[in-house]
Amino acid sequence: MKAIVIGSGAGGATAARELAIRGFEVMILEAGQPFHPLTHKVSWVSPLRGTWLLKDAESIEHVFPHYQVDRTSGDLVIFRGVTEGGSTSISCGNMVRAENGLKEIGLDLTREFEEIEQRLTIGPVPRERWRPLSREMFDQAEKLGFSPKPTPKVGTAAKCVCCGYCELGCVARAKWDSRQVYADLLGRGVSLKTDSRVMKVILEGGSAKGVLVARGSSIDRVDGDIVVLSAGGVGTAQILRRSGIPPSDSLWVDVVLTVGGVAKGARMLNEPPMVWFAKRDHYILSPYFDLLSYWFHKPWKSVSVEDGVGMMIKLADTENGTVNADGTVVKSLTDVDKKHLEYAKVEAKEIMEASGVTGPYVDGLVHGGHLGGTVPLTKDNLETMHPSWLPRDLWVADLSLMPRSQGLPTMLTTAALALRVARKIAEEKGKRVET
Ligand SMILES: Cc1cc2nc3c(=O)[nH]c(=O)nc-3n(C[C@H](O)[C@H](O)[C@H](O)COP(=O)(O)OP(=O)(O)OC[C@H]3O[C@@H](n4cnc5c(N)ncnc54)[C@H](O)[C@@H]3O)c2cc1C
Repeated sequence: MKAIVIGSGAGGATAARELAIRGFEVMILEAGQPFHPLTHKVSWVSPLRGTWLLKDAESIEHVFPHYQVDRTSGDLVIFRGVTEGGSTSISCGNMVRAENGLKEIGLDLTREFEEIEQRLTIGPVPRERWRPLSREMFDQAEKLGFSPKPTPKVGTAAKCVCCGYCELGCVARAKWDSRQVYADLLGRGVSLKTDSRVMKVILEGGSAKGVLVARGSSIDRVDGDIVVLSAGGVGTAQILRRSGIPPSDSLWVDVVLTVGGVAKGARMLNEPPMVWFAKRDHYILSPYFDLLSYWFHKPWKSVSVEDGVGMMIKLADTENGTVNADGTVVKSLTDVDKKHLEYAKVEAKEIMEASGVTGPYVDGLVHGGHLGGTVPLTKDNLETMHPSWLPRDLWVADLSLMPRSQGLPTMLTTAALALRVARKIAEEKGKRVET
C-alpha cells in the first residue's frame, strides 16, 4: 500500500518512518531543496546590515533560501523552513512537551512523548558553557521568582561549538533535525523527492487518490492509496484550500519579540540560543540574541554582536489567522496579544536590569515560526485522529492539528501528534509492524 507524505519536517518525517516500519511504501514529497547550513557565510553577511541587501525580514530569502518569509495582512512576519527537514532544520534545538489545550479535548500524548524522547538525546546545555551574563540573568530571574529552568536541547551537546547560529543550520552536526528520523529507511521503504511542491490533492469518489505536484515547470500526477499532509500549519492549509477543502481560520504562530539591551562584552552568540527559559502564564522568557532582528530590523541597529543582549518573549497568540489558496496569510495581533506582550516586556526588562544590562531597550522584530491550528483536533476526532470533515484517505500529521497556541517549542508535540496519526492510519488499514 502506497502512502504519499507531503513535507519532511517534524510531522512528515515522523509519519513517514512510522508508516514505513508498518509496511507501507512511503514517498515523501518535499517542496524545498536538500538542506545546507549557512554558518560559514555569516561573517560576510553581517557587514551588509542596513544596506539594501538586508533591508527587511524578507531579505533573508536572498541570503538563505531555505527560509520562507511571509508578511501577514497585519504586518506580522512569519518564518518557516522550506527545505528537507522543514522548520526543524532551522530550529534552535529546544525540545519540550508543549501541551496547551490538549487536556481540554482529552488528548493524552504521554506515551508518544516518552517514546520519542527515548529515541533521542535530550538534555540541557551544561551551565559552565553558558555565557556569564546568561548565568547572571538566570540567577536574577530565580531571585525575582520567575522559576527559570535550563532548556532541554536535542542533539549531541559534546559536538556543539557554541557558534550561536543554530537557526542557520549546524555545521558541527551537533543539532538534531527531522532528516535523521527517516535517514536509515531511505531506499528501504521510504523514498524522498525534494523540489516537489504539492499543488492539490486529487479527490475521486470522495476519497484522496493522489496529488498534483509541481517540479520545475512540469506538473505531474502522483497516485497513492493514502495522502498525508505534513506541510506545516500554513502549507497544509494552503493545499487543502486549493483542493476545495476549507481549513479552519484559526492559525496561530507563537509570536516572538526579543527585547534588546546592552552589556559590555556579553557576546551572547558564543553560546547556544535560549539556554534557559522561564514559563509564565501566556509566554516564556529566554535569553536570545535575535539574529533576524540584528540583521533586518532597523530599531536593532544599536545592538552589536559584542555587547548586545536579547531577552526573547515567545507568546501564545490568539488563534485567528486565515491561510488563502495562494499562501498569503490574514492575521494580526489582537488587543489581548498586545496586552500580554506589554506585560512580558516589563518582566524581560526587570530581569535584564537586575543583571546589569542597560538601555536603550529596543523591541525586536515581531514574528512567528510555530505554525499550527489550521486543522484543529476536537474531542470527536480523537478516536480516529482523522478530522471528520476531511475526505477518506486524506490525513493530516503536523502542527496544524494542534488546536491551541503554545508559547513553547513545538517540534516534540508535532512529532507526537504525527506518531499517533500514523498508528491510527496503520490500524485503519490493517497494517502491522513488519521489521
Ligand atoms: C526559526 C525557527 C526556529 C524554531 N526553533 C524551534 C526549537 O528550537 N524547538 C522547537 O520545538 N520548535 C522550533 N521551531 C518550531 C518547529 O520547527 C515547528 O513547529 C515544527 O517543525 C513544525 O512541524 P511541521 O511538520 O508542522 O512543519 P515543518 O517542520 O515546517 O515541515 C513542513 C514541511 O512541508 C514542506 N512543504 C510545505 N508546503 C509544501 C508543499 N506544497 N509541497 C511539498 N512540501 C511542502 C516544507 O518545505 C517543510 O519541509 C522553530 C521554528 C522556526 C521557524
